[in-house]
Amino acid sequence: MKFDLIVVGAGPAGSMAARTAANAGLKVALLEKRQEIGEPIRCAGGISKSSLGKLVKPDPKWIASEVKGARIYAPNGTRIMMSGNQAQNEAGYILDRGIFDRALATDAARAGAEVFVKTRAVGLLKGDGMPCGIYVQKEGELLKIEAPLVIGADGIESKVGRWAGIDTALKLKDIEVCVQFLVQDIGIDEDYCEFYLGKEIAPGGYVWSFPMGYRLANVGVCIQGSKATPGLAARLLEDFIRKRMPNAKLLDLVVGGVPASGPIETTISDGVMLVGDAARQSDPLTYAGILNGMKAGVMAGEIAANVVPDGDVCKVVLEAYEERWRNYVGKEIGKNYKLKSFFTTLTDQDLNSILHMLESQDTSRMNLEGLVKQLFRLNPSLLWKMRYLLF
Ligand SMILES: Cc1cc2nc3c(=O)[nH]c(=O)nc-3n(C[C@H](O)[C@H](O)[C@H](O)COP(=O)(O)OP(=O)(O)OC[C@H]3O[C@@H](n4cnc5c(N)ncnc54)[C@H](O)[C@@H]3O)c2cc1C
Repeated sequence: MKFDLIVVGAGPAGSMAARTAANAGLKVALLEKRQEIGEPIRCAGGISKSSLGKLVKPDPKWIASEVKGARIYAPNGTRIMMSGNQAQNEAGYILDRGIFDRALATDAARAGAEVFVKTRAVGLLKGDGMPCGIYVQKEGELLKIEAPLVIGADGIESKVGRWAGIDTALKLKDIEVCVQFLVQDIGIDEDYCEFYLGKEIAPGGYVWSFPMGYRLANVGVCIQGSKATPGLAARLLEDFIRKRMPNAKLLDLVVGGVPASGPIETTISDGVMLVGDAARQSDPLTYAGILNGMKAGVMAGEIAANVVPDGDVCKVVLEAYEERWRNYVGKEIGKNYKLKSFFTTLTDQDLNSILHMLESQDTSRMNLEGLVKQLFRLNPSLLWKMRYLLF
């Protein structure tokens, strides 16, 4: 049980890290606590078609549906459109996350990684003060798997970071609490994702409806953790579905959280790198985390392949990963955190007038950034309101 690299967690971030490192010649162990990779699904599956295509070859097996764009609704029903390819991480393809996650893990295995399912990481193995592997629980047995470097890709509940002394604690306001139903027969438009804003329906978040084909849709709500009370998200979603989709049949329930903190102080320590939700790399404005996790996974896999053969995996050497992901996705999520902090201060009336302002513009070819820029162009006083966040 000796490897060059252990990756904990076979979600999109972990599988991409394992595949990249294995392709570069490292002996990689990919550990997954669940029996079946990708199940149960805790995701709506929305992802930008063009960005995903840069990372993996699209496969119809894991594309549940393809959408032309997104519609965003203000609390009073005012609606604007965004085009699919442009609508950042939240539109384009709707993935079947179960099949997608298994396909990515299979790619990692094909590249040479050894995949261990039903294998839960339970602690960091240390020798001479440095991490040198992982304790795992497998079929009731406590085993040791050795490797000089560990990548923690263990999602929002990440423990690898904590074991390595990395502060990944999230404030309540920086967690989105999500509940989602798989819904059938709601007469939805199969071509568009829909987002509904408003303090009443989703305080500090939004309601979404993502078509999954065959008259199915993922309909969910996320609300800011600091505004959540027990059962609130589920009640809000049930209310929404009852009012707007009275014929809907609810087939499946998903509950989960998404980090929405922006970049945390560090994602590395001696012999350990964190990727994906474990590193809090999801987008704090849209709450999308698949793409950023995959990108960071590739970067961590590449850095692992560079440093392990040289035998030095101390924190200073791993700074290369830290620098790379911050330049690549960190800037974006830092900016979006400021925008999110601003948008959560807006009242329903503000949202109504903002979308009203944009309604008369041709937003159908804009991405989220373009939309925000246009908004500030139309209403410079918003920039003034935001100044304390920007400077
Ligand atoms: C309801 C909901 C809807 C969402 N919708 C979208 C969306 O439409 N688009 C989007 O981009 N993002 C969405 N997200 C966010 C997205 O699901 C995550 O950002 C993404 O899955 C992060 O990928 P990851 O690989 O970092 O972590 P995960 O996908 O969470 O994978 C972590 C893996 O680690 C495993 N693991 C954990 N602990 C251990 C351990 N101790 N030992 C071994 N294995 C372990 C887990 O079982 C899991 O398989 C949504 C989230 C929720 C909750």
